[in-house]
Amino acid sequence: MTKTITLAHGNGGEENNELISKIFYKHFKNDILNKSEDAAILELNGKTAMSTDSFTVSPLFFNGGDIGKLAVCGTCNDLAMMGAKPKYLTCSVIIEEGFSTRELEKIVRSMKKELDINGAMVVSGDTKVVPRGAVDKLFINTTGIGEVEYEGISASNLKEGMSVLVNRDIGAHGATIFSAREGIELESNLETDCASLYPQVKVLIESGIEIVALRDATRGGVSAVLNEWAKASAVCVEIEEEKIPVQESVRGICEMLGFEAVDLANEGTFVLVVPKSDEEKALEVLRKTHESAELIGTVSMQYEGKVILNSSWGTKRFLDLPTGELLPRIC
Ligand code: MG
Repeated sequence: MTKTITLAHGNGGEENNELISKIFYKHFKNDILNKSEDAAILELNGKTAMSTDSFTVSPLFFNGGDIGKLAVCGTCNDLAMMGAKPKYLTCSVIIEEGFSTRELEKIVRSMKKELDINGAMVVSGDTKVVPRGAVDKLFINTTGIGEVEYEGISASNLKEGMSVLVNRDIGAHGATIFSAREGIELESNLETDCASLYPQVKVLIESGIEIVALRDATRGGVSAVLNEWAKASAVCVEIEEEKIPVQESVRGICEMLGFEAVDLANEGTFVLVVPKSDEEKALEVLRKTHESAELIGTVSMQYEGKVILNSSWGTKRFLDLPTGELLPRIC
């Protein structure tokens, strides 16, 4: 292979085949993909979940991850959040002419590593190469299909008295991308929370906890998830502000930018609602993966469709949906 990707690598001919076989097939190889038919033929049992996402993150490599890891985690996590086990993915890439072949392979390798964690495989894909300047380095789209293992998770199921938990400290992805982009050198080793969530969901399901609602707090952060749920279920979500876990370095970035950690994007952080009777068990299960998991609030009927932040001094304020674009190209 040449050191950089050329327009010829997207020509549908010999160089295109070389790119596909020496990078994508080399790492993604499996019986379905290897057939190289026009479409993958899949076998699925029972109910199926499907989700798609495009990844345009800048920079492509950041502390704790890269666009490849993000592209698999993002799609697999959306399946996991609906109680589904990720099974099959597509991978479509749009590459800018001149992109480093070595970096492309590094990205594909991270995708493969994350696919293995999910027990999923890429069964179909597409590569396009566009002239310099037509795209910024590399964009990836993944679509995933999963088998539903736990039914009934929904944003509309929240009821008064239920408990709200987070699986770990929040805002790490947004803060990491911001510092990478601005070249902020941090003394701490702040890194993205980007991670595959299916293993944690699997443990939750196996523990017998009733999962009422579950959502990964990606763009819009924890704040968007809570507001969407409050509206969809016509309830009030009351959060104890000081219970929200935020690591010091993320807090520092937030102060510098005038952001709130609840608005920052995450890529391996979810919010969970369980019946009050399951809250202790759920917290115990979550803490097996992240010490920082926390019970952050409850569902009430105080203000329908609203999220309230209660401070430790007894003051209350509404937590609204983030507006504007905090950080473009975060994922
Ligand atoms: Mg999601």
